Amino acid sequence: MKKITIIIPAYNEEESLPPLYERLEKLMSSMEHYEFEILFVNDGSKDNTINLIKEYREKDNRISYVDFSRNFGKEIAMVAGLDYATGDCVIFMDADLQDPPELIPELVKYWEEGYDDVYAKRNSRKGETWLKKFTSKMYYRVLQHLTNIPIQEDTGDFRLLDRRCVNALKKMRESQRQSKSMFSWIGYKKKEVLYDRDPRIAGKTKWNYKKLVDLAIDGITSFTTSPLRISTYISIPTFIVLFVYFVYVIAKCIVTNTMIQAYQAIILLILFFSGIQILLIGIIGEYLGRIFNESKNRPLYLVNEYNGEKEMND
Ligand code: UDP
Ligand code: MG
Repeated sequence: MKKITIIIPAYNEEESLPPLYERLEKLMSSMEHYEFEILFVNDGSKDNTINLIKEYREKDNRISYVDFSRNFGKEIAMVAGLDYATGDCVIFMDADLQDPPELIPELVKYWEEGYDDVYAKRNSRKGETWLKKFTSKMYYRVLQHLTNIPIQEDTGDFRLLDRRCVNALKKMRESQRQSKSMFSWIGYKKKEVLYDRDPRIAGKTKWNYKKLVDLAIDGITSFTTSPLRISTYISIPTFIVLFVYFVYVIAKCIVTNTMIQAYQAIILLILFFSGIQILLIGIIGEYLGRIFNESKNRPLYLVNEYNGEKEMND
């Protein structure tokens, strides 16, 4: 029997857990041809979350949990989930039932058809402000523009990953992470499933705009080093302005047969040296980008098949 691990990061989710458990139980009994593991990662909750999870585990041995020593954030909780999961595939799910468990049979169906990464794409986002929707849309535009790897828009972390994707992700140990870009980076056969995202069942969102902006910046800076190129790009127009102004000043001096003015000399010097400075910062940026990429220590490539056999990455 194949085993499915459902990874659920939970931070102060005591109100969501009872309905969540109930719906998961229903799901598991409807999919009797699979073995299940529900792996909670308690991300330093300050409420009763961990005690509830322990209670569930006592009466249901399909429940496991990892209890963090403090709040490390959802991204890191997901890493722990990958590390501790024992299933043949894993499914990431939020604790607040925004990702309906009823979609899981469909995800599994595509997995059985041979897809490695079945991700759920949001059809609609109930209970979210237009500002959040708009900013998220713009963000994906920019991110997509900055990188060559296709990024799935309107996709959260709700997805099924085959064991070999799990093993691949486990090799990526960078500490500042944005899982979404990593899911794109590993590649493999992907399949999209549409769903309606429900509003949170209870409690409040753990995100605020500061956290979202942080995540957005992490996403861009961990995905590409192109922001480091900005100074190289700025230095080019600076030099063009310098050159044009230089020619203009010299031509004017010759035509009017006068000496170069002090202010003109100052402007030229400023343009010249600031151009050089920006250029040099850009060069440092290039090397910094290389150090940054090497320090992530990612695998250089991931193999899909070797002589017709699936590469499991372990
Ligand atoms: N979460 C977590 N650690 C955190 C913040 C959130 O493990 O520091 C979990 C949270 O319990 C939930 C999931 O991540 O299961 C998504 O959080 P939330 O619903 O607050 O985010 P939103 O759906 O509003 O984007
Ligand atoms: Mg939520």
